[in-house]
Amino acid sequence: MGVTLADILAARATIRGIADATPLIPSPFMSAQAGHEFLMKMETMQPIGAFKLRGAVNAVFNLPADTGGVTCCSTGNHGRGVAYAARARGMRAVICMSRLVPQAKVEGIRALGAEVRIVGTSQDEAMHESRRLCAEEGLADISPFDDPRVIAGQGTIGLEMIEARPDLRTLLVPLSGGGLAAGVAVAARAINPGIRVIGITMDRGAAMAASIAAGHPVEVPEYPSLADSLGGGIGLQNRLSFPLCRDLLDNVVLVTEDEIRHAMQVLYYEDRMVAEGGSVVGLAAVLSGKVALTGPTATILTGRNLDMATFTRAVTGQDVTLGDLTLKGKAYAA
Ligand SMILES: *Cc1c(COP(=O)(O)O)cnc(C)c1O
Repeated sequence: MGVTLADILAARATIRGIADATPLIPSPFMSAQAGHEFLMKMETMQPIGAFKLRGAVNAVFNLPADTGGVTCCSTGNHGRGVAYAARARGMRAVICMSRLVPQAKVEGIRALGAEVRIVGTSQDEAMHESRRLCAEEGLADISPFDDPRVIAGQGTIGLEMIEARPDLRTLLVPLSGGGLAAGVAVAARAINPGIRVIGITMDRGAAMAASIAAGHPVEVPEYPSLADSLGGGIGLQNRLSFPLCRDLLDNVVLVTEDEIRHAMQVLYYEDRMVAEGGSVVGLAAVLSGKVALTGPTATILTGRNLDMATFTRAVTGQDVTLGDLTLKGKAYAA
């Protein structure tokens, strides 16, 4: 079906030493709330602060040696992953972004050794430039989710979770383009066919959920969200992550901005941890009672690359402005 357990085992050998295994730790507070043991896979501890390093390293290290370099137009965790992976292989990386991208993000990518090319004022223009680089300068474009090597790299997370805890009954996987959920579901199902794998995303702009409901990839409007890493489409030409998510996910659950904020507060005040809004949607789904659990459950804390000003406002209970939506302040109460 495009990506198999064998691909994921091969990916693990490829990424070893660069994107290593992370801890899977129990949350006593969440376990009490869930009524079952609740564990968290700490992808926040990857060297770039997010799991995307796994897929990027597996993709970059599988390119032919004569590849001129790599490119992408992600300004988020995928861009960081590609930059880091290229440096690890001694390969050129060019990350294309629009003039609207905040300087802090530009500097973050540069600090990882990548060239940054600023083009135009939209993501579309940046994408056009990365396509031109592929055609004219022999660079390889790496998709953040619709690439078999990327999906196999992310799948190593599922492998580690099932090996550490063969008794897990449910995996709650943050979902955007679906590379993570597809890889984790392939690994988990191959080893334990009875396990439930549930995709979790925000209720505004849930492209994969809408696409699964429609039976084919569709576009949905995009909104600013506390879970900004989960925004963006799945690509109308999606070849791999869409069919894998459609066929392997038991369900997709949507959570609100209010529920995401509460989950960020829970993680911060109860477990003393900091993670992106996109990381805590699994906690949000449990805390809001939107998933029924039947035994030991695990989620993935996918990243920690958040905007500190927004995070501080959210956890301390101040109003947070997200485009057209003002999330009214709410102090944390268990
Ligand atoms: C990319 C990303 C996701 C979603 O992964 P997909 O493979 O696009 O579904 C979740 N959390 C964080 C922090 C991410 O960077």
